[in-house]
Amino acid sequence: MSQTFESLGLAAELVRAVTEEGYTEPTPVQAESIPYILAGRDVLAGAQTGTGKTAGFTLPMLQLLSAQSIQGGRRAVRALVLTPTRELAAQVEESIRIYGRHLALRSTMIFGGVGMQPQVDALRRGVDIVVATPGRLLDHLGQKTIDLSRVEILVLDEADRMLDMGFIHDIRKVLAVLPRKRQNLLFSATFSDEIRTLAGRLLDNPAQVQVAPRNAESALVAQRIHPVDSSRKRALLAHLVGTGDWRQVLVFTRTKHGANRLAEQLCKDGIEAAAIHGNKSQGARTRALASFKAGELRVLVATDLAARGLDIEQLPHVVNYELPNVPEQYVHRIGRTGRAGVSGEAISFVATEEMDFLSDIEKLMRRALPREVVPGFEPSPAPQAVQAPRQAQLQRRQQVQHAQHRGGGERRQPGRGDAARHSPHPKSTQPRSATTADRGTPAREQQPRSNANAQFPSSGAVDRKYAKPDRPRRGGRGKVPALLGGTLRR
Ligand code: AMP
Repeated sequence: MSQTFESLGLAAELVRAVTEEGYTEPTPVQAESIPYILAGRDVLAGAQTGTGKTAGFTLPMLQLLSAQSIQGGRRAVRALVLTPTRELAAQVEESIRIYGRHLALRSTMIFGGVGMQPQVDALRRGVDIVVATPGRLLDHLGQKTIDLSRVEILVLDEADRMLDMGFIHDIRKVLAVLPRKRQNLLFSATFSDEIRTLAGRLLDNPAQVQVAPRNAESALVAQRIHPVDSSRKRALLAHLVGTGDWRQVLVFTRTKHGANRLAEQLCKDGIEAAAIHGNKSQGARTRALASFKAGELRVLVATDLAARGLDIEQLPHVVNYELPNVPEQYVHRIGRTGRAGVSGEAISFVATEEMDFLSDIEKLMRRALPREVVPGFEPSPAPQAVQAPRQAQLQRRQQVQHAQHRGGGERRQPGRGDAARHSPHPKSTQPRSATTADRGTPAREQQPRSNANAQFPSSGAVDRKYAKPDRPRRGGRGKVPALLGGTLRR
């Protein structure tokens, strides 16, 4: 029998609030973490945006705080939620207000990019819960405008992202001013060695919760790759928005500058677009997001950090204008669509020079993603003069590796890798025939004019094992810690 919010032990006021939100049953991360948190346990949770994790820690936190509300006396900050970005802070605080609407608790948010004084005023009036980004919180601590000596519950939300953003020192400084006895909740989408170290120091005998990324391999998200030259990406985007009559598309770029430039160019092309990233003022980011949600902007161009935690209901299209260099970020990006039972599509524009990134992503997804060349946007063939010597070098290396592998007694896996290995030009001169990834995709994928797909081999594990040595990956990212049982349920 599926669980209900009541059966998890939540109070009537909270059940009423979630029912008013239209939630009929808890998500897996809620069902698993809420009872632990209500029981006062520390929790280490592997869950990303889209899984319902915010309610997973907010609901029990509100219940614990309201169960012992301070009678009379001044309010004190009793719960602190740290988040990596202002957007996430704003969304978490909004959730606290929504879920806590039938309770008498007060919350506020603290982040940079806006004036200190309104935050100082809110803190002076008294709050029970503070949602903060680490840098600005330290400013308040330095100016003694916040007192964290009575914190009972600490939440680190998207802890991996906070460490990626270099917040570890700030986090340590904050931890140093908190009471030693408190409940700690750590939520992270991925588990690097740094996260494990932090969790080891911070958490006391934590209950462990691991849920599958809701959208990672959701059948609701149709994914495809459009091979295209970098210089043609903007025209391809305008083409797809126009021909597909796309009304709402979230586009990811890797840099803030790239996001700005693309948004400006799209506006010149007559497509309403805006960019959000860390250099934009909070006001500009909030306005852009509101216009996008209201359907006034067709394209929102975002960097990974700015888009972190964005929750846009029924977002139909996500475009990776540039592939992320950290494969897990791809999963986060495509998770912006295909939510709440509504299907969506995630399209990636991939230039030849991004092939390594694509290989890493496919390795993480454990499958090849279908390629589809859009007619009129065929990528140019790789320059032969440069390619030929490298090709020969690569082939020699493959032959050596191949011999080593076989000599080492490794079991040979039959499959499509065989064709690639036995081909005289395994990588770039063989027109691609249907692969697992292509089956069912139209014949227009084969582009004899430029032999376009030949540069975009499917990168199934077998092919790649022999095709190129893997690039070193950053310290264990994406691995599920032994702490969590070592396997990621999918
Ligand atoms: P989060 O992972 O916290 O970013 O939540 C993702 C989305 O799921 C938000 O729009 C929430 O409003 C929604 N949500 C959270 N819990 C539930 C639930 N039990 N049922 C349906 N939607 C939910």
